[in-house]
Amino acid sequence: MRSEGTFIAVEVDDAAAADAELARRLSEACPVDIFSSASSGGLEIVQQNLDECVLCRLCLDASPPGTVKVIKLYDGDAVLA
Ligand code: SF4
Repeated sequence: MRSEGTFIAVEVDDAAAADAELARRLSEACPVDIFSSASSGGLEIVQQNLDECVLCRLCLDASPPGTVKVIKLYDGDAVLA
């Protein structure tokens, strides 16, 4: 799944996005509520909060390597590492 704001896009591996436990961890980790748990149990990206991203990397630390990407649309699509 991918969702885009004006400055930031977030991409989450589709299999990981269906994982209720990962959805819970990500919604707890992100300080600006970019992630939430969908009623279906999987992950939801809160599109209206994307541009609030503070590049803290907590979502990367809370997820298996490579499953979540934070993309800086304002910086030539550079991926937060
Ligand atoms: S880098 Fe920080 S603010 Fe940005 S989406 Fe990840 S947890 Fe949220």
